[in-house]
Amino acid sequence: MRQHTIRKPVGIEGVGLHSGKVARITLAPAPADAGIVFRVRSTGERIPARAESVVNSHYATTVGVNGTRIQTVEHLMAAVSGLGIDNLDIEVDGPEIPALDGSAKPFVALLAFAGRVQQSARIRPLTLPCPIRVGGGGRWIQIVPAERFRITYTLDNDHPAIGTQVLSWTPSERSFVEEFAPARTYGFLKDLGLMRKNGLARGGSLDNAIVLGNRGALNGLRYRDEFVRHKMLDLVGDLALLGRPIRAHVIARNGGHALNIELVLAVQRAVGLERRAALEVAAAAENARRREEFVTAPGLATI
Ligand SMILES: [Zn+2]
Repeated sequence: MRQHTIRKPVGIEGVGLHSGKVARITLAPAPADAGIVFRVRSTGERIPARAESVVNSHYATTVGVNGTRIQTVEHLMAAVSGLGIDNLDIEVDGPEIPALDGSAKPFVALLAFAGRVQQSARIRPLTLPCPIRVGGGGRWIQIVPAERFRITYTLDNDHPAIGTQVLSWTPSERSFVEEFAPARTYGFLKDLGLMRKNGLARGGSLDNAIVLGNRGALNGLRYRDEFVRHKMLDLVGDLALLGRPIRAHVIARNGGHALNIELVLAVQRAVGLERRAALEVAAAAENARRREEFVTAPGLATI
């Protein structure tokens, strides 16, 4: 499998879900092995789309460096990952990625318009050395080694419009585009006042989120189980911060951005440790081989 970038630059603008401020993003091709990199227009600061760049994961995933921040990167990251784009330059003029319709669908359309081009470098998927679990009680995520990437998600909520929603998915580009990218973010009307007081959901409206009142959704749903689909979309976006695809089965229950990022960091530690352990094993084997040569040489000399 080869790496991909986009064919030509494309841009879009809109209001940020949390900041309520208008921002413009411009996506441009990037060289092989560059990865996904955000570039802040006002400061020129470069922020790699990696877990190490995450500075806040409360309600949305925020990346930053040296005090410069870009909020709510997860739906754009999900679209980039879902369409198999490995290298991309994302210039951001504003504090937050535009919410657009609250899903990844408009980003998918934008990337499709940009076109995709294959690069010469290969994709190097990550292999998980051991199962990992983060969280506890009713909120946890577990990841286990597997042949193919797969997500199984359980969402429990006592709101009558949500209830218990369970879905298992082995992502393909087509199923991503048709069944997951259009799933929108959601919020509860009763939380809106407090969220806005805390600087959240200031750009939120019925145009970019499913709003849940006491009895049900105030706007129509795109899927009967749109809520769990959106949680899985968020997970895809946050897992893209690994920088490489992973061969593993992710099993989640009531996760969120904070747990997603905790998982990504734990996977990175495990993969790093495994790589270090493999190097140590190779070094030990090499030492043993040299020792054997050293030991056998005098023996041979006595023949
Ligand atoms: Zn989301």
